[in-house]
Amino acid sequence: MSETTLIIQGNPISPGLAEGKIHVHRTLLGPIDAAPQGDGRHSVKEELGNLDIATSKITDDLLSLAMHVEKEIDTRLSKVFEVHQLILHDASLRKELRQEIVDNLVSAGSAVKTVFLRWEKRFMMMESQIARSKSEDLRDIEIRLRNALAGITIHPLEQIPYGCILATTRLLPSDTVFLVGRSTAAVLLEYGSTGSHAALFARELGLPCISGIANLQATIPDGAFCLVDADTGVATIGPDEEQITVFRKKVDLKNRVIKESRADALVPAVTKNGIRINVQANVGGEEDTSIAIANGAEGVGLYRMERTYLGSTVPPSTGELLNEMRQTLRPAIGHGVCVRLLDIGADKPMPYMEFMAETNPSLGRRGIRLLREYPQLLKTHLQAVLELSREFNVSVLVPMVTIPDDVVMVKNYLRQLASQLSISSLPKLGAMIETPAAALSAREIAKHVDFLSFGTNDLTQYAFAADRENAAVEMYFNDSSDVIFRMLRIVHDDVPGMPLSICGELGGRPEYIARLLQCGIRTFSVAPPLVPIIKETIRKAIC
Ligand code: PEP
Ligand code: MG
Repeated sequence: MSETTLIIQGNPISPGLAEGKIHVHRTLLGPIDAAPQGDGRHSVKEELGNLDIATSKITDDLLSLAMHVEKEIDTRLSKVFEVHQLILHDASLRKELRQEIVDNLVSAGSAVKTVFLRWEKRFMMMESQIARSKSEDLRDIEIRLRNALAGITIHPLEQIPYGCILATTRLLPSDTVFLVGRSTAAVLLEYGSTGSHAALFARELGLPCISGIANLQATIPDGAFCLVDADTGVATIGPDEEQITVFRKKVDLKNRVIKESRADALVPAVTKNGIRINVQANVGGEEDTSIAIANGAEGVGLYRMERTYLGSTVPPSTGELLNEMRQTLRPAIGHGVCVRLLDIGADKPMPYMEFMAETNPSLGRRGIRLLREYPQLLKTHLQAVLELSREFNVSVLVPMVTIPDDVVMVKNYLRQLASQLSISSLPKLGAMIETPAAALSAREIAKHVDFLSFGTNDLTQYAFAADRENAAVEMYFNDSSDVIFRMLRIVHDDVPGMPLSICGELGGRPEYIARLLQCGIRTFSVAPPLVPIIKETIRKAIC
């Protein structure tokens, strides 16, 4: 090993092997109290002009955002952007910004930083919760203004080099959207647990990912060559020749094994005692579906729509949604495809719904709860799904079901909209079992649906009261514990004859396949790269 080699051991949260140059991604904004010092050399006229241009750009952005949100979600929510407009054009704020540029000869960006910091502090010191929440609105506008002044109109991750190894503090679900097109080789993170959405998206993309690297920004050298073994959680930075040779041999061997399991991938998965099991895939975009079908997936068991919403700055219309669904699912035409209704809120916030702050978001408005509150969002969704059902064999899955009424209301909307669209045959309706309440009331829920699908990621989070995004409580997040299997068993015993599937990450772990089959699961929906190995494991099992 060379003296300059640095070996780091972290948690492997998405498997795979990769090599490449490290790109350390630092967040755009510094800490809230780090006000900049002006260098006193800026042209006042130019900076005042820059401030006006940026203000007018943001005014336009906020206006189109408000229009979209009003049309696609709710009139009440669009009011938030009107408030942002009012703050942006507040006379005393504008006066203070201009004053800062004139008096201190600083750049417009610098003035924004200093003045907004002053205002945010004032609001934060106020007693009332409403006044304090205004400091968040201010921060939002500050980010918009500073981005506009810096000429940033795109997400910072859109600028990372192709094929790099991204090293960053944490990855939000919305960030992963921007990695897809950049052919990112691997990701190194300071924070992020196995159950986090970022980990799950990474697994779906087949993107190797290691987390738990302490003090990442200070430890990891930008631009260094690195070997990432996310099967074991080891990153070798600045490796010597011998380490590179050994690593590449390991890659070759792994590729050979994958190739061999793919040879049988298109053959159906039948257990040793002759039970035919359906193996499908979890997808979020067209690339996932193509990989899944090439790997022998017999359809899509979970289409996560969130990427479409997280990757845009305005909510999509019915037509846009329909196009997106068509494109994503095209490789699976002829197979069954299961579209999950939008599961946002909590840990998957959308940029244009940022203001929906809740003290305990995972227990708040997410999944079907949010859709119930904003029926327009639900209707847009169901209309697109119904239109899609003219071309695809579609079923609909309801996320975050807690009480039977959560599925009853979706069913009523489906019926209503189908009759308006003259569609006579309704798509099959399924409930996700991902809260203990849903598992324990499966008998009631099952009266209104055609199938149940276990979302073991959330089921674990809610059973163990351990936030799946929080690495600090990862030891409590045990999705293969007896607690989870006991709930699966209860559901199986309570609803005999009801088709049961699994789309949580537990279904993609070969060592638990036999046990899951014993719990009556007959459809597995797993990350696309895992399809061949899961089929192979099923062939060796008895149920
Ligand atoms: C789950 O909770 O297991 C699931 C499949 O849904 P998601 O991971 O998207 O919350
Ligand atoms: Mg879930």
